[in-house]
Amino acid sequence: MNVYDSEKIVSDLAFYGYEKTESVESADLVVLNTCTIREKAEQKAFSFLGRLTKLKQKKSHLIVAVGGCVAQQEGEKLVKRAPVVDIVFGTHAIDRLPQHIKQIEDHKHRVIDVKISESIYEKDFHKKTRENEVVTTFVTIMQGCENYCTYCVVPYVRGKEMSRQPDRIIEEIKHLVNEGVREVTLLGQNVNSYGIKQGFCSFAQLLERINVIDGLMRIRFTTSHPKDLSVKLMNAFVSCEKLCNHIHLPVQSGSDRILKLMNRRYNRDDYLEKVTSLRKIQPDISISTDIIVGFPGETSEDFAQTLDLIREVGYDSLFAFKYSDRPKVPSRHLSGKISENEKTLRLQKVLALQEETTLKKNRALAGSIQQVLVEGLSKKQKGKENQNHDIQWTGRTQSNIVVNFSFTSNNDITFDQILTGRIVGVRIEKAYPHSLWGKSVYIEPENQGLKGDECYAA
Ligand code: SF4
Repeated sequence: MNVYDSEKIVSDLAFYGYEKTESVESADLVVLNTCTIREKAEQKAFSFLGRLTKLKQKKSHLIVAVGGCVAQQEGEKLVKRAPVVDIVFGTHAIDRLPQHIKQIEDHKHRVIDVKISESIYEKDFHKKTRENEVVTTFVTIMQGCENYCTYCVVPYVRGKEMSRQPDRIIEEIKHLVNEGVREVTLLGQNVNSYGIKQGFCSFAQLLERINVIDGLMRIRFTTSHPKDLSVKLMNAFVSCEKLCNHIHLPVQSGSDRILKLMNRRYNRDDYLEKVTSLRKIQPDISISTDIIVGFPGETSEDFAQTLDLIREVGYDSLFAFKYSDRPKVPSRHLSGKISENEKTLRLQKVLALQEETTLKKNRALAGSIQQVLVEGLSKKQKGKENQNHDIQWTGRTQSNIVVNFSFTSNNDITFDQILTGRIVGVRIEKAYPHSLWGKSVYIEPENQGLKGDECYAA
């Protein structure tokens, strides 16, 4: 969500004549978009502000703006802790950032704007041409959350759940497709409850509408709260052919006792039943999750149940985090805090277990042909485009695995971004824990959906 917000900030400021610089040192304005979901992210933000303090001593006209969740959480306190800051703009004040910058430029009056709105302010999003050609991008469909998981700061810093109007979402995606975007990831804290409060269409219906947008090739979404995952949404994996075969379904813990303390409102069996239903509807669906280790009171038995659930589900990938107390959240008052050492050990165990599974799954793909949406040249290739004809590209499978592959061009094809935004069939030759490597075997004709059958050899 922060990536989406940052893109929006860059786009809005470009309209007022600002452009990105190569380094912080050469900037006249620095915008820091912060995250407070974990303590470490917040510490990083404050340490960066320390660096800016030194920079401002040399460059007095430098304007420093801090937005995002730390800004929302700290408000005026942020300025006391980091006097270098000129503008504090909260999660609902992004649209007002340009006017705040103007005020600083004209009057040098510090601005603190952390007002939470009662409705989503829809403005002319992304009116300017995007600065980089991108194939895949995020689109926010809702904001805020009212689930109040006991460890989570989101309801306090992003406000109440609000969905955007379906027509505006469709309009935005059509605009992005016109600019070359081929894949969108729909964002919400809990996409399953999209539209319910406002009486809009359901999330499954929204997916159906997006699925028919011409030129769009792939749709992803995140995040889906397991308690609200409906059969209708599961069926969308079959009825919407552009919907990628992947779901992120955060479980957080495998212990019923901990799930209750977390206020997740499902238990282990409910979760496993949903996974079984999903796999019945779409047998080869890729499933990823989030795990929190070291929640207050998590015993070694609770943790063993988490490891056991990870094995039972056989996730394709996961994100694991060490629990940390966040301001305002109820779990900070729970007893039985786990030591940092123990949290680190548990985190390592989760990651090692998952790495084993992911590698096994990736190895099983060796020899198969995967449909890869090409995002551009691989990191290794950048800057070497003209050195040979064997070019390395990068993209993702439907199940969200990064694939680097080589494409041997003939002399008739220029090295200019010919494959970016195309679906390429790649024969997988090597599997790594976090990516695959292979060779292209065909390119799907331009602007075809996922199942184009008229292919030609590369
Ligand atoms: S559903 Fe997600 S965003 Fe909402 S409170 Fe729970 S963890 Fe936080």
